[in-house]
Amino acid sequence: MTEITCKLLVIGAGPGGYVCAIRAGQLGIDTVIVESTRLGGSCLNVGCIPSKAMIHVAEEFEKATEAATGKTPFGLTAAEPKLDLKQAVAWKDGIVQRLNNGVAGLLRKAKVKIVHGKARFRDGKTVVVETETGPKTIQAEAIVIATGSAPVELPFLPFGGNVISSTGALALSEVPKRLVVVGGGYIGLELGTAFAKLGAKVTVVEAQDKILPLYDAELTGPISKRLTALGVEVLTGAKALGPTAKSDGLRIETADGKERSLPADKILVTVGRKPVTDGLGLQNLVLDMDGRFIRIGERCETAMRGIYAIGDVTGEPMLAHRAMAQGEMVAEIVAGLPRAWDKRGIAAICFTDPEIVSVGLSPDEAKRAGHELKIGQFPFAANGRAMTRHGEAGFVRVVAQAGSELVLGIQAVGQGVSELSAAFGLAIEMGATLQDIAGTIHAHPTLGEAFPEAAMKALGHALHI
Ligand code: FAD
Ligand code: NAD
Repeated sequence: MTEITCKLLVIGAGPGGYVCAIRAGQLGIDTVIVESTRLGGSCLNVGCIPSKAMIHVAEEFEKATEAATGKTPFGLTAAEPKLDLKQAVAWKDGIVQRLNNGVAGLLRKAKVKIVHGKARFRDGKTVVVETETGPKTIQAEAIVIATGSAPVELPFLPFGGNVISSTGALALSEVPKRLVVVGGGYIGLELGTAFAKLGAKVTVVEAQDKILPLYDAELTGPISKRLTALGVEVLTGAKALGPTAKSDGLRIETADGKERSLPADKILVTVGRKPVTDGLGLQNLVLDMDGRFIRIGERCETAMRGIYAIGDVTGEPMLAHRAMAQGEMVAEIVAGLPRAWDKRGIAAICFTDPEIVSVGLSPDEAKRAGHELKIGQFPFAANGRAMTRHGEAGFVRVVAQAGSELVLGIQAVGQGVSELSAAFGLAIEMGATLQDIAGTIHAHPTLGEAFPEAAMKALGHALHI
């Protein structure tokens, strides 16, 4: 059996693992990374990147359809659009391939050794990797578990046949005529909206009494309106029961307790993600768990000295940028630098239509934390740039502590607001006050102008409403 020794071993080359390995390599740490499938993890191969590529295709198709049906208010007409979904998927796969190569190049540049195969703990310092050329033993002073997450399967609706996960939805060769989406969270609504724009008749079945239960009703209101306009039927308070007898649809229990069958060519199940720990040999370690996730402290340390865990395997929020930030931090800790998790906020974005951004505390969270609040909200209906983009739905909302006027949270819903997350994140991280934001000149005409206007509204003197 081949033996490798190193200072740092990273298991899993998703955004958490590969960033950790690159930073460790930059710091001169002798680092090995093990990956059982493709470099880049869920995010790059079957998550963030491919989903955003397909959302873009759907947006372009919808714009072309609007022009063809004479629905644009500015008089644009065009011939009926046609989409070759196979070509769109091939384009998306090309982007993924380029990024895969990019990650491999970055790891090589940082002098990280890449081992392909499935890793299994033998003990707290030793991992065995099953590679194509046989098992390899890796001994490391520090080990980072970055094995990520996988879709949750409903026992009565297992994946296979016409029941698909997000991975299957991103690889379809044709648009299903009728798509039933089980779970109205991030993935269900991002992909459900995209397929509705591509022409599918979409029905969303959500167990809770509202879609995107993480966000408040003010933020999700414009999404619900748009889903209705796209012809998407949203059934909240509804339970999936199982496939119909002929497997040509889904049986559900509606909010009023009645059974209903929803005909479907594909059933997309997006009811959350679970940590990937099967076959990792965790029984050979003594880790504290948080349900099925690995429990970590503020330095991403586990209950065993020298073993860290980062990213989705440690639970919510399951976001690529959180995994990357944890990976970078752990590499610096292993290098002996004084680091701990002291982030004030992690931006969350839902790439629906319109998009939602949230950083820091929502009004309800801030109230529950005992703060007296000043809240300012500015509508995109009063923003020139939003009007010129034909996207007046939505607003920016700033939540601040009364008295100190420290900004505690910022939320927005609107077309293209994902790009405002950088400004929002910076404001929270730098400890900005309402006056700091109101006093920053924002270029005109931009969506960003709604940000200081919301701060001025909280201060009692918005200029444009
Ligand atoms: P992963 O990316 O899951 O990577 C873990 C890696 O470890 C995998 O490559 C896996 O093969 C490998 N591995 C597992 N076990 C072993 C083993 N025993 N040995 C060797 N290798 C192993 N997040 C966002 O922030 N923005 C988005 O827009 C977004 N969109 C998404 C869309 C979809 C459809 C999905 C599914 C997810 C999306 N996410 C998004 C979430 C994002 O993909 C994850 O938060 C992110 O990938 C987590 O990174 P990670 O490094 O923790 O794990
Ligand atoms: P999610 O937690 O966002 O949504 C799951 C939804 O399914 C919830 O609304 C839940 O109430 C519902 N649900 C659960 N069981 C159900 C059942 N039996 N029947 C009907 N509805 C049911 O999970 P997801 O959409 O699968 O996404 C998984 C993770 O991936 C998220 O936690 C998120 O962090 C990450 N993600 C992020 C982005 C982004 O950042 N834009 C995009 C996609 C995914």
